[in-house]
Amino acid sequence: MFSLPKLDYAYNALEPHIDELTMSIHHTKHHQAYIDNANKALAGTPLENKTVEELLTDLNAVPEDKRTIVRNHGGGHYNHSLYWKMMGPGKGGQPSGNLGDAISTKFGGFEKFQEQFTTTAMGRFGSGWGWLVSNKGQLELTSTQNQDTPLSEGKTPLLGLDMWEHSMYLRYQNRKAEYIKAWWNVVNWDYVAELFKKT
Ligand code: MN
Repeated sequence: MFSLPKLDYAYNALEPHIDELTMSIHHTKHHQAYIDNANKALAGTPLENKTVEELLTDLNAVPEDKRTIVRNHGGGHYNHSLYWKMMGPGKGGQPSGNLGDAISTKFGGFEKFQEQFTTTAMGRFGSGWGWLVSNKGQLELTSTQNQDTPLSEGKTPLLGLDMWEHSMYLRYQNRKAEYIKAWWNVVNWDYVAELFKKT
């Protein structure tokens, strides 16, 4: 069974980029709801002792009557757990070391990477996520719809941006580009680098 992870920082710690009320509702209501719905569906079944990563890595192994719930609500739990850790107060800037080099080589520099990531995230019609992933060691940009996760496509998420309106609407309304621009100031590259190192 899943439980809501504690944040490593206060709800107001990402101000002014991500506002306190958005953080608090997003974490205690939206994320909690994904967890509650997944737990309700899996309780008393053999799936209840599996990790969310195990379930999402092989969705075809999940019985058909539970698959959509796991995909949507298990996916929501997994994606949001990453999202919180991929941000932090006093973060932002540029990645260094191996990750910085890999991003520069792949995308032609950090600013080009930011442009392409933004285009990818903005290009997702409706609700979804923008991602930097490792596809068997190769960096790639991708987006997913709803709460689908790159993990289910055999790719390792490195950096994920929630593009659902609930993640931005209170402060940015429909101004998605402004939300993305602000979000770069809180990206936790140390955590992204840790994930990259394992791929
Ligand atoms: Mn969300």
